[in-house]
Amino acid sequence: MTQSADIFHLELLSLRAVVNSIGAYIFTKDTQGRYTYANELACELFGRPLHEVVGSDDREFFELEASNDLQKNDRQVMDYGQTIDREERNIIKATGEVRYYHTVKTPVRDADGIIVGMCGISTDITERKKLEAQLERQAHIDYLTNLNNRGYFIELAEDELNRAIRYTHPMSLLMLDVDHFKRVNDTYGHKQGDKVLMELARVCVDTLRDTDIAGRLGGEEFAFLLPETDREEALEVAERLREVLAATAVGTDNGEEALHFTVSIGISTFGPELDTVDILLNSADKALYRAKKAGRNRVCAD
Ligand code: GH3
Ligand code: MG
Ligand code: MG
Repeated sequence: MTQSADIFHLELLSLRAVVNSIGAYIFTKDTQGRYTYANELACELFGRPLHEVVGSDDREFFELEASNDLQKNDRQVMDYGQTIDREERNIIKATGEVRYYHTVKTPVRDADGIIVGMCGISTDITERKKLEAQLERQAHIDYLTNLNNRGYFIELAEDELNRAIRYTHPMSLLMLDVDHFKRVNDTYGHKQGDKVLMELARVCVDTLRDTDIAGRLGGEEFAFLLPETDREEALEVAERLREVLAATAVGTDNGEEALHFTVSIGISTFGPELDTVDILLNSADKALYRAKKAGRNRVCAD
């Protein structure tokens, strides 16, 4: 071998070592989208040896929808000479698994500058995406009841209120507080109290419409935003909720006696002077206070 052939060979071996140890999927494709090279990690993902990967296209390895998206990206690279840098969502054909990748794709040109294919580097970011989704959920959802937490409820309520204002549609807000909840905790224990809150949330979600927004404001206080609902309709909904909850039996640890509880509900309805979420919450809170004062287990509207 000549010295330059030696150097070339060494360079090739080194490059191969690099692309196989980098922890990313590295591949090249021809202008028809057929693989011309894939590193070891990519071959592993496809579950095929390199000689079988070469000549195949993405339809072979990914579900149709995902491979169509990949092809669109590839066309952008090869037809317009653009380098793209984006997230790709793939469904692996062999396992049905959804995985996310951060991918950079860039055109490969010959000596005359003609595009002869493309090369790509993909990093698997599935775990990071899962963690992000989990964090987002934790930031929005109450861990005990799975309802929206206070902050997110207010955010959603603001969106809904803006819609009600824009289209002058009715909208009402219910604020609910468990009656004598301290007694539940004192008599049955805090854990049993938690169980009541979980059951209450479940029953409320089952009783309300899908378009209603439910939130746990804190402790044993809940709020429900009812779009397209005027004062009279809100009174009916609240009364139904109150009755269904009063009839709800929560199982206890001793397995014999079921626990019953009641709730009080305050209602406010969007109107010319009730046009912010803050004001609506305050107004419902005042109505709730009146319901408590009037003897609990009842509904009051502002
Ligand atoms: P009322 O509303 O009818 O006036 O009486 P109450 O006994 O419900 O009064 P209050 O609202 O003052 O008490 C709420 C109690 O709820 C106090 C607190 O210990 C309990 N609580 C708050 N958050 C939780 C929780 O997450 N789990 C349990 N088990 N109890 C909670
Ligand atoms: Mg209470
Ligand atoms: Mg309370």
